[in-house]
Amino acid sequence: MLTVNHIDVFYGDLQVLWDVSFEVHEGEILVLIGANGAGKSTTIKTISSLLTPQKGTIELSGIRLDHHPPHDIIQHGIVHVPEGRRLFSEMTVEENLIMGSLYGEAKTKRYETLEYVYGLFPRLKERRKQTAETLSGGEQQMAAIGRGLMSLPKLMMFDEPSLGLAPILVQEIFSMIRRIKEEGVTILLVEQNVTQTLAMCNRAYVLENGRITLGGTGSELMENEKVKEAFLGI
Ligand code: ATP
Repeated sequence: MLTVNHIDVFYGDLQVLWDVSFEVHEGEILVLIGANGAGKSTTIKTISSLLTPQKGTIELSGIRLDHHPPHDIIQHGIVHVPEGRRLFSEMTVEENLIMGSLYGEAKTKRYETLEYVYGLFPRLKERRKQTAETLSGGEQQMAAIGRGLMSLPKLMMFDEPSLGLAPILVQEIFSMIRRIKEEGVTILLVEQNVTQTLAMCNRAYVLENGRITLGGTGSELMENEKVKEAFLGI
């Protein structure tokens, strides 16, 4: 579905991704794992077109998307749920959700999708008139996911959705991601929570210092000695 082909990405003169290539298959949960600073966020920011690769290409179902503006990427069905939620803090929950549906079919079907999101997250419905800054961390993550769903995505990319959440909320967020996958949305997940994400994913890649160094099914990587040592503390 998504093909990332040999991309090099820079911040100014500083190169942070080297020749990164991987594929996301339709209907799967694909995970990118890696230490802090390995380049996971940079990879998904590049897919979202917040950054432009200096070399290489990004294709969705055969259509090249690199060098398109970010709003075009959303219209092609790719949405990015960013690290740290990035809600509009002084806007209400409902206004934040609406901001996810600014274009095309998502705009036409806005109120239908809003009911769907409230069905998935009844707590957001209860709090729809509250400003985002008054929500707990878990509720903010739900609102960020809800806003992503409002764009009617084919591919949803999550950047560290469990960051800063209590273990019980992490479970809730991960089971919501599995449910979204079951409803037909393909998932690209970037996480530090390696044990749980390898257990729930179809496939995973390891990013080290801006390069992909390993790839395989979740269970293959869980059995890999290097992964065990570096990420699982075994
Ligand atoms: P983390 O889990 O800490 O977010 P990550 O794997 O997502 O790690 P990135 O955020 O993609 O890593 O960062 C990759 C490299 O790029 C790091 O060395 C980081 O310091 C650098 N970097 C990230 N953002 C910028 C920026 N805006 N300007 C310059 N360098 C940056």
